[in-house]
Amino acid sequence: MKPEIHPVYFDNAKITCACGTVYAIGSTKETTLVDLCAACHPFYTGKQKIMDTARRMEKFAERSVQKATVATGKKVKREKRAVQKKAKEENTEKPTKVSGN
Ligand SMILES: [Zn+2]
Repeated sequence: MKPEIHPVYFDNAKITCACGTVYAIGSTKETTLVDLCAACHPFYTGKQKIMDTARRMEKFAERSVQKATVATGKKVKREKRAVQKKAKEENTEKPTKVSGN
């Protein structure tokens, strides 16, 4: 090996995962932090794990809430109209009944 060109090699370097698992490997970096490993990756565990670093889940939830409120607004208007129609019909029917009795 040519002297003074190779980085320091650590035989017992540690890789630490966010889930707490620690792996010992050979590396030029003494310690490494990772978000996912074989012990916690959804592909291996079969469990769903959401890493929402860009706040996409919250944004989607906000958008869906806005859409829902718009939809209910139309529904409320329709229901109001139906109630008004019923009230009008009842009002027109009542006087005839009263005059008949
Ligand atoms: Zn892990």
